[in-house]
Amino acid sequence: MANLTRSEAEARSALIDVTAYRVELDLDQGATSFESSSTVRFTCAQPGASTFLDVKPHRLHRATLNGVEIDGAGFDGQRIALTGLSAENEVVVTATMSYSKDGQGLHRAIDPADDQHYAYGHSFLDAAPRVFACFDQPDLKAPYDVTVTAPPEWIVLGNGAATRTGEGSWVLATTKPLATYFFTVCAGPYVSVAAEHDGIPLGIHARASLREPLERQAEQILTITRQSFDYYHSLFGMRYPFGEYHQVFVPEFNAGAMENPGCVTLRDQYVFRGATTHDEVLTRSNTITHEMAHMWFGDLVTMQWWDDLWLNESFAEYMSHRTLFAATEFTDAWVDSSMARKPWGYGAERMPSTHPVAGSTAPDAQSALQNFDGISYAKGSATLVQLIEHIGDAVFIAGVADYLRSHAYGNASLADFMGAMERSSGKDLQSWADAWLRTAGLDAISLETTSDQGLITSATVRRTPPDLYPADRPHSFDIAGFSYGTEVFRVATTVDRNESILPELEGKPIASLVIPNAADLTWANIKLDAATVAAAPTELSSVPLAQARAVVWTALMDGVALAEIDPRHLLAVMATSWAKESNQSIINRVGLQMTLRIIPQFIPLSEQAGAYAVMAKAAASMLDQSEPGSSRALVAARYVATSSADEDLLRGWAFGDQLPEGLAGDSDFRWVVLGNLARRGAIGPIEIDAALERDHTMQGNLKALQAKASAPDALAKEWAWEQITGDHGRSNYELNALSNGFWHAADHDVLLSYVPRYFTDVPALSGRLGEDALARVAALAFPSNMVEQSTADQSASALARADLTASVRRAIIDADSELREALASRAVFG
Ligand SMILES: [Zn+2]
Repeated sequence: MANLTRSEAEARSALIDVTAYRVELDLDQGATSFESSSTVRFTCAQPGASTFLDVKPHRLHRATLNGVEIDGAGFDGQRIALTGLSAENEVVVTATMSYSKDGQGLHRAIDPADDQHYAYGHSFLDAAPRVFACFDQPDLKAPYDVTVTAPPEWIVLGNGAATRTGEGSWVLATTKPLATYFFTVCAGPYVSVAAEHDGIPLGIHARASLREPLERQAEQILTITRQSFDYYHSLFGMRYPFGEYHQVFVPEFNAGAMENPGCVTLRDQYVFRGATTHDEVLTRSNTITHEMAHMWFGDLVTMQWWDDLWLNESFAEYMSHRTLFAATEFTDAWVDSSMARKPWGYGAERMPSTHPVAGSTAPDAQSALQNFDGISYAKGSATLVQLIEHIGDAVFIAGVADYLRSHAYGNASLADFMGAMERSSGKDLQSWADAWLRTAGLDAISLETTSDQGLITSATVRRTPPDLYPADRPHSFDIAGFSYGTEVFRVATTVDRNESILPELEGKPIASLVIPNAADLTWANIKLDAATVAAAPTELSSVPLAQARAVVWTALMDGVALAEIDPRHLLAVMATSWAKESNQSIINRVGLQMTLRIIPQFIPLSEQAGAYAVMAKAAASMLDQSEPGSSRALVAARYVATSSADEDLLRGWAFGDQLPEGLAGDSDFRWVVLGNLARRGAIGPIEIDAALERDHTMQGNLKALQAKASAPDALAKEWAWEQITGDHGRSNYELNALSNGFWHAADHDVLLSYVPRYFTDVPALSGRLGEDALARVAALAFPSNMVEQSTADQSASALARADLTASVRRAIIDADSELREALASRAVFG
């Protein structure tokens, strides 16, 4: 598969300048393919020279350059050679294109609820040529004129405002100059809610079967949208530049959302069918405002090449939390960042695949894709927080505004961004950027104190850079102490050496819990002192600030991952503190970590049932202590349903008996219950199919597949593995659901033979699935729960092979690294 290299892109953008695209799509040609016609106008700086156009058609019909037909020899299946260019050129390509099922290109899905078909375009990162012929690289921006023919009952949306000009005929308004990776068209019998804010027409859209929840949740979605527009307009001093603003909740979407200018696509699980939690609405709101930040940062000013795309994500990640905190009801957004986002990045730092935030070479488009991880998002955001600590907030915002104004509708690089920051701050930021942005790795931060008669007599902060990635990173943060629920001290400091004496702590009272980085300003592995770790089970729940509790929970979980803290101690903290927790990001993220990673990987198999029992008891206690019908009660009920071994209770809930308040008829909750029963082997395919009859929807289908794959018997595993690895035309989401279910069984014997098969069968999916979708399947289907040295040995052998694609290789490297953490923990703690 051709994969654009950086040098090819540089040569092409030095040679040509694209001035306009006209794209005509005919989506009324059946369920498997569509017709695509592209007319591309471009200039050439060296008449007579050659270049190439990207297109990945099912069948190429015709290509002409300046009216002259290009013969078939000029097309290799993905690139059309353009030779003998003039100063002004027009290339026209007509082709039949295939709809995708992997979320890349023009994806087409069928809603089992009503058999309606939905299409949406996803051109990131290099999928635009699966929709139309183009010069597919981020720095060849041009305006688009798009027309779409669609079945008459469909609506059409895209980057430009859509107008229906006749039965099934749609014209989209000419866009501003856009990079190819932003191109989208969404078409289908979508239902809509229209609104307006500050002169900007707004629309939200989803499948027809989601009409009721879309309409019920429209006001919340639109409120966040309005608040974010107001905030960004005032912060950047620049209005939203792309006309109408549509948010389309689309099926089977790989990521959370995509920032297509004027027409953002979001995963449609964000249209919550049943009872919803605070945490879920916060996460959706975060995605909404994240994509809006991209309208300026990424869309208006686009990175020159993929190696700087981290800056888009770091910026949007930072800006979304800032906006939620400053301008919406979600004043707990930074706590969510501490629990949901930073641990993702800390995990990524521990892997051999860790990389600097910026400056990875990204020699080609696909290698850049591998770095869209917790480093680019969470670490990048944390470094921006540190940059603001370093230069001041007003200076930072002035620099951002300068950067946006200077490069509007064009492209820029990290050097341009740092140049704007240096201009606005008047500071040389070279060494800061080298340490924080151009060097990988996570410093450890710890505090050592001595005391006498209840008072601190000396305090030393130690900063330990990782051996592999030495750097001199300055850290600005605070240190707080808590005893019996009271904050007894807090000091702010900047640490710019490996050992710093803190005289300001001398004379402060000693505290039961001492929390470095208590407000979570910096990016570091916080090593709690032994007394604080020991006191956590009794003291943590009394700490009055959720932000400080979040830092402790993350430090404890990282300590388990690093084989420094016994996972049973974390379980003990959970047993005493989790049920008393009030912050729902903490409740949910701790619950997820325990069920997805800590218990199945770090706790030995023989103790896992006991660990789930601890969790079930804590969740039941949380449910008892929550207001019936509240968001907290719902989270608690879900974790009871996930972890309980009480099959009578679970069966009762599955049949709707004695359900917690607000959960009657809630299909999603019923699937949580059924998922647990299926993993235990307490229900089989007949009961699962009966449940699917009651919930004949896209979500129901996925949950049924996951439940069937998780059944702990040989027949179920054989069926599921064949569904994942055989050629059954399964969608990306179906493969994810099957993979999610597969590695469950209390008796690992039924799974053992699939460990070697993973390393042969999953790499063989390459080419059948787009790399983006394959990366997810390869990660989810990895035998993470098979915590044995033999699994790690097989990973090592697989990684020695030369035939793995970039996505599969990266998925194995990362999953193997997590597996080795669990092996190391078991070696220390048993
Ligand atoms: Zn983003």
